[in-house]
Amino acid sequence: MKKITPAKVDDKKMEKIVALCKRRGFVYSSSEIYGGLAAVYDFGPYGVELANNIKAAWWRAVVQLREDVVGLDAAIFMNPKVWQASGHVDGFSDPLTECKKCHNRLRADHALEEIGIRADEKMDQATIDDLFQTNKNKIKCPACGASDFTSIKKFNLLVQSNLGNFTGDWTKEPVYLRGETCQGIYVNYKNVLDSSRVRIPFGIAQIGKAFRNEITARQFVFRTREFEQMEMQYFTHPSQELVEYEKLRAARWQYYLDLGLKEENLRWHKHENLVFYAKAAYDIEYNYPFGFSELEGVHARGNYDLSVHAKGSGQDLSYVDPLTQEKFIPHIIESSVGVGRTFLAILSEAYTEKEIKGETRLVLNLPYKLAPVKIAVFPLLKNKSDLVTKAQEIYDELKLEYNCEFDDNGNIGKRYSRQDEIGTPYCLTVDFDSLENNDVTIRERGDLRGGSELPRVKISELKKFFTDKF
Ligand SMILES: [Zn+2]
Repeated sequence: MKKITPAKVDDKKMEKIVALCKRRGFVYSSSEIYGGLAAVYDFGPYGVELANNIKAAWWRAVVQLREDVVGLDAAIFMNPKVWQASGHVDGFSDPLTECKKCHNRLRADHALEEIGIRADEKMDQATIDDLFQTNKNKIKCPACGASDFTSIKKFNLLVQSNLGNFTGDWTKEPVYLRGETCQGIYVNYKNVLDSSRVRIPFGIAQIGKAFRNEITARQFVFRTREFEQMEMQYFTHPSQELVEYEKLRAARWQYYLDLGLKEENLRWHKHENLVFYAKAAYDIEYNYPFGFSELEGVHARGNYDLSVHAKGSGQDLSYVDPLTQEKFIPHIIESSVGVGRTFLAILSEAYTEKEIKGETRLVLNLPYKLAPVKIAVFPLLKNKSDLVTKAQEIYDELKLEYNCEFDDNGNIGKRYSRQDEIGTPYCLTVDFDSLENNDVTIRERGDLRGGSELPRVKISELKKFFTDKF
């Protein structure tokens, strides 16, 4: 039994991030006017921009900048046999326990973690049962405080649907909403091989929605029932699996540094309990406000995935080396991360408070490439048409290259602090001097100086100015 070092938990910061997300239109509860839907969230106007920028950065690094990786967008619905072959129908489950007093449902492994005992989903049933039996008198129900639980039941995480079934009795043959995107990659491996120029070693990458019937959803967008994954599966010669694995680990670590996460907020977690086919499994953990938790999984999966689908489908999924004619089933290494988890890590990293004259100012120090809005354009006053026209002209020009926002509402200080809170790198203001001199003030994110102290840039030089900055 391994004790976890309790991480520094900053609940206040988490609350503030959640409040900011709602107040500024990053994240809302799903169908909120009807009371919401547990563990499902919607991205608002700035949230969708940030999420899109995260996905674009991932796609750029993982697909477009690598000649050995191609993209894919498989459908959410798949032949149910996929999930039987992959083992999900029988084995994709969480250990469920119920409070005998109030019937609140808990994940036994999470309840154990709360009291400092590492129990992960890859442990077999007997091990978790055992840990739970030994420790359950120390666990308190988060709803009612009682310490009286049922024994553990396995609860399958696959979400079912009646797609294409009109019999009214679809639960016998449900079509699943995919529980992970990578199965779409495995079953298309042969298609990609036959229709593109890739040769082993090569990767297939995909961004897409996945669905899991999580028993307890926790920590905002960290664990949700509908979520989006960014996954890359890399197909290797068996002898090269662990060599490529180390390269992938190094690449993924560097990726997060390039994305703007501080190295001190990242760490590797080695899986002690490997599933039988796995060669190695590490997670990259991020130091969220609630402590270090999984951001990404980097796993060496052997030939398990292609073997089970070759068996399940009756198709030959082996690879023939064009030079040596050697025939083998490729081994797979994977990198798998959630958009929501990256989103939360980026927000945690960027969230900054500044004390100014007893007042707390909030600045979201997002990396420029991820910021939802790059430049905000303001006329100093709303009711001076000369100012508004000139600002509008600048906005119309800059929006062709950057995501910009035009705002003429309220006093200029409020507009600046609003842009600070959504992480906009630059605000540009057209004032009365602009009409004389054809220049504007440029304010960098978080700058607290007044308008007269801000640097000025000629309107004709704005494009060059921003090309240099971005
Ligand atoms: Zn209870």
